[in-house]
Amino acid sequence: MTETFGHVIDGDECDSLDGARFDSVDPYTQEVWASVALGGAAEADLAVAAARRAFDEGPWPRMGFAERGTLLHKLADLVEQHADELAMADTRDMGKPLADAKGKDVPRTAQNFRFFADHARLAAAETLPMDSGHHTYTRYEPAGVVAAIAPWNFPLMLESWKVAPALAWGNTVVLKPAEDTPVSATLLARLALEAGIPPGVFNVVHGYGPNSAGSALTEDPRVDRITFTGESGTGRIITAAAAKNLTPVSLELGGKGANLVFADADLDTAVDWSIKAIFSNAGQVCLAGSRLYVQRPVLEEFLTRFVAAAEALVLGDPKQSGTQIGPLASRTHYEKVRGYVEAAERGGSGKVLTGGLADGWFVRPTVVVDVPADAPLQREEVFGPVVTVTPFETEAEAVHAANDTPFGLNAMVFTENLSRAHRVAAQLRAGTIWTNCFFIRDLRAPFGGFGDSGWGREGGNFSREFFTEPKAVVMAI
Ligand code: NAD
Repeated sequence: MTETFGHVIDGDECDSLDGARFDSVDPYTQEVWASVALGGAAEADLAVAAARRAFDEGPWPRMGFAERGTLLHKLADLVEQHADELAMADTRDMGKPLADAKGKDVPRTAQNFRFFADHARLAAAETLPMDSGHHTYTRYEPAGVVAAIAPWNFPLMLESWKVAPALAWGNTVVLKPAEDTPVSATLLARLALEAGIPPGVFNVVHGYGPNSAGSALTEDPRVDRITFTGESGTGRIITAAAAKNLTPVSLELGGKGANLVFADADLDTAVDWSIKAIFSNAGQVCLAGSRLYVQRPVLEEFLTRFVAAAEALVLGDPKQSGTQIGPLASRTHYEKVRGYVEAAERGGSGKVLTGGLADGWFVRPTVVVDVPADAPLQREEVFGPVVTVTPFETEAEAVHAANDTPFGLNAMVFTENLSRAHRVAAQLRAGTIWTNCFFIRDLRAPFGGFGDSGWGREGGNFSREFFTEPKAVVMAI
């Protein structure tokens, strides 16, 4: 039976003014499972007006950090208590294994609210004693109304990565989730109200991007910050829209992560993490290690083990325990990835060692070798379970190949040589370098990318810088 979900504006779950709705399709069953209010400019306008009122007149920005933090911790408690429902929403919306949604995304969502509540409460500000006898100190004032625009690959988790710091620093928020994964955002907004977060502080408006709720948010002069995660091309469009109002934008965009395996690596570690880096979430990860570079002396052994591990991954119903790879998130996305796989299978620019298309919207873990450096598969973000493997001879060659990309979100280095690990990490042009691991995060660390992977950083104090207006107060004493 189809379930129905609305926008959440000013504390009310509501339909669109014209009653328009859209469907969310479960990519495993390929059946509609949810009917969702379809917003446009009118609903975005109402949501921004509600957030503006809550910011200008409501208690939220004026509450102390402790009181806000208590409510955000309450929300984290509720997220944990509703883990089954939240995880199932993301799984039905986009096909990720339920075990991952429940075991990773939901706990991380709760952790985001807890971390940023505590981080804001405990944050110190600078005091600068001056030679002149004055002193200057910093205040971090909430920026105002934050528009958060999210992608579909880690719906709930990435939404909380934006919403939690924005709220913790006293802002009000309008969240527009991706149209492929709308449901968990409405569930989260219901829980925020249940936690006691005042109406209008956290609003959700559903809709599409261009000429819809998404673009309306980016063009609204009452919005003080835009935080966006999604494709690099969309980031460019949003930046252009925001420029008209000089609205600051934070962009977390696409990636084409390089994964360097040196001959002195522990191969068990390297194979295990390299498999996780490209095939988790069916490769629909901005941080995916989609370009593997392996030093020639260990190429054959690495490939034998890597292909065997890829072939052992279990594809299937994402709701079943034991499933490691679900379908791709939507028909449109499946067709995009299928284009790359079919081109690889036709040959001419690479040879498929294992993988290919499966039934439904499934793509098997696909390993392609002999791909030219300028081939689309090597340069473009596929966002699916497809990896290229390229040999290298020297450290310098590996660093050059890794940096030969317009993206720069992350890279991985596998080596047991300590000096090499630090030396290579320093030379890689990417926002996060994982050495002998992948996906481990400290929420205090900067997160973001070089080049086409984004603008600015979020995390810890970096989120504070973006979601506040730092102010200098100069005192004569
Ligand atoms: P997308 O850019 O198509 O859409 C993202 C969001 O933007 C959606 O909510 C969409 O409705 C909205 N949108 C689209 N056009 C818009 C417009 N003109 N104005 C306002 N909003 C608009 O991205 P996607 O396909 O949902 O997500 C996948 C992409 O996200 C990949 O490129 C991936 O690498 C990237 N991503 C990056 C990170 C990161 O942290 N850097 C994390 C996850 C995903």
